[in-house]
Amino acid sequence: MKILVINSGSSSLKYQLFDMDSGKVLAKGGCERIGAGGSVTHKVPGRDNYTIEIDLPSHDKALEVVFELLTDKVHGVIADVSEIDAVGHRVAHGGEKYKKSSLVDIELINYLETIIPINPLHGPPAIKGMKACLKLLPSTPQAAVFDTSFYANMKPSRYIYALPYEFYSEDKIRRYGFHGTSHRYVSQKTAEILGKPLSSLKMVTCHLGNGSSITAVDGGVAIDTSMGFTPQEGIEMGTRSGSIDPTVVPYIMKLKNLTPDQMSDILNKQSGILGVTGVSNDFRNCLAAAKEGNERAQLALDILANGIKKYIGSYMAEMNGLDVLVFTAGIGENQCEIRRMVCENMEGLGIKIDNDKNENFERGIPVEISAADSKVKVWIVPTDEEYMIALDTQKLV
Ligand code: AMP
Repeated sequence: MKILVINSGSSSLKYQLFDMDSGKVLAKGGCERIGAGGSVTHKVPGRDNYTIEIDLPSHDKALEVVFELLTDKVHGVIADVSEIDAVGHRVAHGGEKYKKSSLVDIELINYLETIIPINPLHGPPAIKGMKACLKLLPSTPQAAVFDTSFYANMKPSRYIYALPYEFYSEDKIRRYGFHGTSHRYVSQKTAEILGKPLSSLKMVTCHLGNGSSITAVDGGVAIDTSMGFTPQEGIEMGTRSGSIDPTVVPYIMKLKNLTPDQMSDILNKQSGILGVTGVSNDFRNCLAAAKEGNERAQLALDILANGIKKYIGSYMAEMNGLDVLVFTAGIGENQCEIRRMVCENMEGLGIKIDNDKNENFERGIPVEISAADSKVKVWIVPTDEEYMIALDTQKLV
């Protein structure tokens, strides 16, 4: 079975074609600058990358170009699009209705349109991607895999904010949680590696990238998570502030005479590691600056490490223990420094890493970095959201 996974952004569209029998990626790539020019980079394992500049006025056109590349005599990997058995779409938000991955139909698209007000950035491009696929591959089954659905079993006490209740009941303001597909993948993969049933494990999974979130997974069920109504809540991120005292927001708005959009821009695009350092949103640059003695860069690292530590501690309290701590995504998989800072002085809670294993690890594969006498196992597990989407799609069709 061949499954195409689509991740559609406002001006981009990423794709991966999987052969599910072998679990291998046949081809992958991305369309950029949709609606404002256009380019496509197409990658086939074992071949040189192929990049073209081409006008991409819409997501429909981008997808047409992707299909041409996948079936191209020189650059393609299939003879005809009819070889694609199903399409899986990454969808950030399933609202309160879609609690698991579902087949795409008009009812699903109509519902996603109704929740655009609470998902204004990611909703419209995901809908465009689904509509484009329905138009170009009308008889191929399609699935939507939601980032929020992993959090469908959280208790109300974990997702209701202590605001007047009507903001939840009428306006749907609540914690939804994000990055669920990544947290679900790494928690399942970790149980598989350990050879233990997922239902027997208490885990904290740390997805640390440009956007970061931490999830408590108890017996395979996400019981709490750091991101909330939007991917803004939680720990310090590349350009997002993470959680702050809510009163700071109206205070700054009054002080600087800002509109809600301007304030939102500050919280989402000018804060986090970028805001604190004034140097860069990229962790690598922040670390390099800290090593050169930049105090604000060191401060940004300390804020991040302490924020992660606090979530781990609070989730251990919520689950009454911890078996495995997992690091994943760009920073979690690649940056030994942050893992060291987070796990430092945690012996009292049974967490101890082996510094040699933490620093000299092979990238791109799961690696255990806990010390032999650590009660809690600590692992680096590379995430693979696309493969998780392909697996869900395969199950559904
Ligand atoms: P992501 O959003 O998962 O792509 O992660 C982006 C963040 O991960 C950036 O802050 C990068 O500095 C960091 N990162 C990604 N890849 C690497 C790498 N190979 N080595 C070190 N840091 C990395």
